[in-house]
Amino acid sequence: MKRPQLTFSVLGGLALLVPLLSYTVYQWTERNRDEALILQIYDRQLNTILFSVNQYCWDKFETWTSALIESERTPEAYGRRLRTLLKQNRSLLGVCIIDSSSVPVLSEGRFSRFFKDPDMACSAVIRQIAKNRKQLDRMHHRAREGYLQPLSVVLEDIDPAVDLILVPVASASDSLSPWMVAGIFVDTHRFVQDVVVRKFNEMNDVNLAFATRFQDGEYLFLSETEPDPVFEKSEPLWILPDIRLLVKIKGTTLRDLSQSRIRTHLFFLFGINLLLGAGIVILMHSVSKAVTLARMKSDFVANVSHELRTPLALIRMYAETLEMGRVPSEEKQQHYYKTIMNECTRLTKLINNILDFSKIESHKKEYAFQNIQTHLWLQESLAMYRFHLDQKGFVLKTEIDMSCPAIKADREAISQALTNLLDNAVKFSGDSRDIEIRLSKTENEICLSVRDFGIGIPASEQKHVFEKFYRVGSSLIHDVKGTGLGLSLVKHIMQVHHGRVDLKSEPGRGSTFFLYFPAGD
Ligand code: ADP
Repeated sequence: MKRPQLTFSVLGGLALLVPLLSYTVYQWTERNRDEALILQIYDRQLNTILFSVNQYCWDKFETWTSALIESERTPEAYGRRLRTLLKQNRSLLGVCIIDSSSVPVLSEGRFSRFFKDPDMACSAVIRQIAKNRKQLDRMHHRAREGYLQPLSVVLEDIDPAVDLILVPVASASDSLSPWMVAGIFVDTHRFVQDVVVRKFNEMNDVNLAFATRFQDGEYLFLSETEPDPVFEKSEPLWILPDIRLLVKIKGTTLRDLSQSRIRTHLFFLFGINLLLGAGIVILMHSVSKAVTLARMKSDFVANVSHELRTPLALIRMYAETLEMGRVPSEEKQQHYYKTIMNECTRLTKLINNILDFSKIESHKKEYAFQNIQTHLWLQESLAMYRFHLDQKGFVLKTEIDMSCPAIKADREAISQALTNLLDNAVKFSGDSRDIEIRLSKTENEICLSVRDFGIGIPASEQKHVFEKFYRVGSSLIHDVKGTGLGLSLVKHIMQVHHGRVDLKSEPGRGSTFFLYFPAGD
């Protein structure tokens, strides 16, 4: 009857889970493509960094050369500008300007480190001009079109740590031709330190390792502490192509990094799937529980109606017969009165159970605890119940340990628990007519057991019988009416008394219910 609710919750769960699962499967199958994409992004980032460092060095170089091609080109003016330039740039060692007839026009710089005098520096430049004539002609040609193109030469024979950059500059007399060549001496190490590394540090977000290296493999600068790091990206320095710029991600490789990103992504995705799956299972579980409870409640209403109607009909019928004076004998009359009394007691018990249950559900049930001598209380309770048992032909066997200590309990509540157990023993005894009651004590507990030899309870049902509204669905109890509240009340009463209830039962051989009370002090 309540199936649609369950179906809706299953469909709702699937509506959430299926798209997420499909997305996860899609991500899983596409992981190689995603990895390549991430790899590409990182690769571009590294390239951009190298490009920016190179561009910065080039800009630096252009500020030097622009000082050489300003409009005022008298030797004095050149001299002034060069001196300022040299002062401002420690990596710039000196400049020699040679005219088109290979005659030095001007030389300025800190040449003493590697040349005896400035003339030797000029001779070195002249030698390199002669060596690279053809290329310089092409550079002149390009310079006329507005493209500045330097030619870098390593002065191996003089000092490998010094680079000579040749660049065309227009002569002082004529704006275009003939052309002169400026030889710019650069301290390679200092240039790397002052310009290249500084720029890289400005850009680096500490995740990158950086190095500069000569073509032959010798490092000029190495930021990584690893002994032999593998740099994944490298570029020649534009203005000094014998130097390579190298960059990598610290402590890992691009491939490892992209793989770990994909792994983390998939891990979270699977985690979310799992959580959602678990959520749906829990949801379905609680919905199915709610559906079962709703079904049990409606069964309960039907059972209670029946439980009320049957005794009421009987009471009414007997009362009417008595009222009309149609009862043939005194004996019969007594029987009618007894039946009316019994049915009233049954109704009272039923209504008490329902009222108690409702109070417990709304947390309004209150208990009055007092010291109770268990053996006395049990004897009194059984004396009251015995008549009922006798009427039905039951034989009650008792075994009571008179030395059981007192307990703190609500008399009415524990009597109700006992009555509920006895009522069940009577109801579910089948053809058997024996009931056994036992009161005993252990070191910490007092145990009251009610045993019958009736239909018993299947093992699979035993853990459910204490749930509210629960009734065993076997055909054996089909005709025995009840509300499914009795044992749930017993369980609640025992909890309130800090005790517990237990059950041993075998189908066809009977059941024993145990009430354990903590022994008082
Ligand atoms: P009710 O007896 O009103 O149905 P209870 O909560 O007292 O409700 O019991 C729940 C169910 O446990 C019963 O419907 C019955 O199936 C089973 N049960 C309880 N006591 C016994 C017993 N002594 N022997 C067999 N079955 C029992």
